[in-house]
Amino acid sequence: MRSPARIAFLSEHASPVALLGSTDAGGQNVYVDELSRNLASLGYAVDVFTRRESVDVPEIIEWAPGVRVINLSAGPPRVLPKDDLWPLMPAFRDALLDFMARDGVRYDLIHGNFWMSGWVAADLRQRLGVPAVQIFHAMGMTKRRHQGAADTSPDDRIEAERAVVQGVDRLIAQCPAEQTELIDDYGADPDKVVIVPSAVNVERFKPVPLAEARRYVGLNEQDLVIAYVGRMLPRKDVRNLVRAVGLLVQRVDLPIKLLLVGGETAEPDPAATPEIGVLQTIAAELGIADRLHFTGQRQPDTLRYYYSAGDVVVTTPWYEPYGLTPLEGMACGRPVIGSAVGGITFTIADGETGLLVPPRDPEALAERLRQLLVNPELRDRMGRAARRRVEQEFTWPTVAERTAALYETLLMQPQADALAAETL
Ligand code: UDP
Repeated sequence: MRSPARIAFLSEHASPVALLGSTDAGGQNVYVDELSRNLASLGYAVDVFTRRESVDVPEIIEWAPGVRVINLSAGPPRVLPKDDLWPLMPAFRDALLDFMARDGVRYDLIHGNFWMSGWVAADLRQRLGVPAVQIFHAMGMTKRRHQGAADTSPDDRIEAERAVVQGVDRLIAQCPAEQTELIDDYGADPDKVVIVPSAVNVERFKPVPLAEARRYVGLNEQDLVIAYVGRMLPRKDVRNLVRAVGLLVQRVDLPIKLLLVGGETAEPDPAATPEIGVLQTIAAELGIADRLHFTGQRQPDTLRYYYSAGDVVVTTPWYEPYGLTPLEGMACGRPVIGSAVGGITFTIADGETGLLVPPRDPEALAERLRQLLVNPELRDRMGRAARRRVEQEFTWPTVAERTAALYETLLMQPQADALAAETL
């Protein structure tokens, strides 16, 4: 039997280490962290390559049993906006090849994350003659469609994405909406696209008794709490939620509070997180400033208290490639209202574990919130169904098994490229 396969995970801007405190850690960081650990539990050796963002970090971090994080020097060793990283990708690739030469390590398979590392993955596939798997996490065309002029991605992003779609062996889509984007927008060969949904850590995200959760977050047990957890960005459209609460409080006389978790700092600071300032202004205009309870950013290991403090969890982005936060709310046994976009239409079972609403529609959201807030039995039923659904369909060990099955189909194939490389 062959020895366990070595996997190179490329994730230029999203390191698992950032989950310990960085300000811009989102779903991709969670994916890389959880999947690498769970693949290691299955016997794979995983090296996660990310860009060095500080002179103070070591090159190699033993991150978990079977998982190393390798900080590659490419560009200045400080935090840069991810949209500035594209010109640094050849240096990132060269640093990876240099690391391989020094460490004496060879990889059996390359797994690219996001379009820029996808470019590196496709390039290394050619050079090293090993299979490459790619997950984009977000597609440039969708971003451009929704953000238009506000999209700060490099001009050649979409062209580079097309090349990656052609240049790797398999594409992971997290949900059917992403599969459609890959095939319809990018011309991907349908046989190359495999759906592997992302998941939630069900040990970490679990229901906390209401009284305990409310105490932890500093809200009263008698309040009716609507919780939002996530990055504070215009596209997450928390403004839509604030407006919906403005409508709702005119219609029902209930002790409604809006719990808002996220931001660039651990304190809710509108200077560091301009979106918080925008939300405060909207709330003041609507006369509901006293209903809002901002916490600032919180670490993943405490988030179960925040989700569980909600009677209902809400996320209504304009668009969402996948969206881990709805699953996290569901894992905490809460009904989730989400906008009917992207991955959210796949994770929330409408009418069963939560409700789908059109995006950019505070009126529709207010009505759905009202339905849930006046009906504790319905909330309870949906919350239980939500937890069950996550346990059955969306756990990281399951994702790792599906990903491993995909890897194995490629690892067992005679590699034409590998043979070609050897005869050079
Ligand atoms: N998150 C966090 N602390 C916060 C706000 C968000 O750890 O204060 C995490 C959240 O739990 C989730 C991730 O950031 O795991 C956001 O992922 P999602 O896929 O929902 O959206 P993205 O940020 O990738 O657009």
